Amino acid sequence: MKLATAMPAPQPAGDAAQRLAEVNRLLASESAAGRHRQPRLIAISKTFAPADIRPLIAAGQRSFGENRVQEAAAKWPELKAQTPDIELHLVGQLQSNKAADVVALFDAIHSVDRPSLVAALARACSAAGRQPQLFVQVNIGDEPQKGGVAIGLLPELLAASHAAGLEISGLMAVPPADRDPAPYFALLAKLAARHDLPRLSMGMSSDYDIAARLGATDVRVGSALFGIRSVNSG
Ligand SMILES: *Cc1c(COP(=O)(O)O)cnc(C)c1O
Repeated sequence: MKLATAMPAPQPAGDAAQRLAEVNRLLASESAAGRHRQPRLIAISKTFAPADIRPLIAAGQRSFGENRVQEAAAKWPELKAQTPDIELHLVGQLQSNKAADVVALFDAIHSVDRPSLVAALARACSAAGRQPQLFVQVNIGDEPQKGGVAIGLLPELLAASHAAGLEISGLMAVPPADRDPAPYFALLAKLAARHDLPRLSMGMSSDYDIAARLGATDVRVGSALFGIRSVNSG
């Protein structure tokens, strides 16, 4: 008999297919309870290896998200080549000098948050002849350390995007960590409606059920699918 020397981090139960089915089941029931369509589930695979990702692909999952361009560029071209209908989402902060790489690799970007990035993305999209689906990230809790445009500057950023020829599909936000997320999700939904934006990227492992009930069209779920990340991933 072996003695346990340390408490393991709590991991979600079951195998990848079971965890995926459970997340999808909750998304279906909560979005129905809120009279919304079931959101797209984006499996956030940051820090996880292709060997961890493949079982989810085998179970039918097709939308995945990463928060670092370099890590995504190392992992995804091969996985995408093997399963061409995979959609790759960028959910992390983005430097303007990476815009061309990002437009080439990603199908959606959830972190558009400033005019200089809008300009860089517009140039990269016109050079590439393709535009990923774009979300403007909003600093919904007005937290100084967080990415996202201030609520007061959102109209200006949307106008700049429009002027640059970029189509913005929706808004994205990460509410403050230790608060009830519901009022922040509701506020993000209100801002999106005010600007006629159809998509809402909100909800993570701890609160995707609440987000689905409040009208999320895209939830970004990592640890509930893959387990607790052992590496600090920003
Ligand atoms: C890591 C990350 C997620 C997923 O977080 P979990 O709590 O593991 O579900 C979602 N959104 C963003 C922006 C992230 O960086």
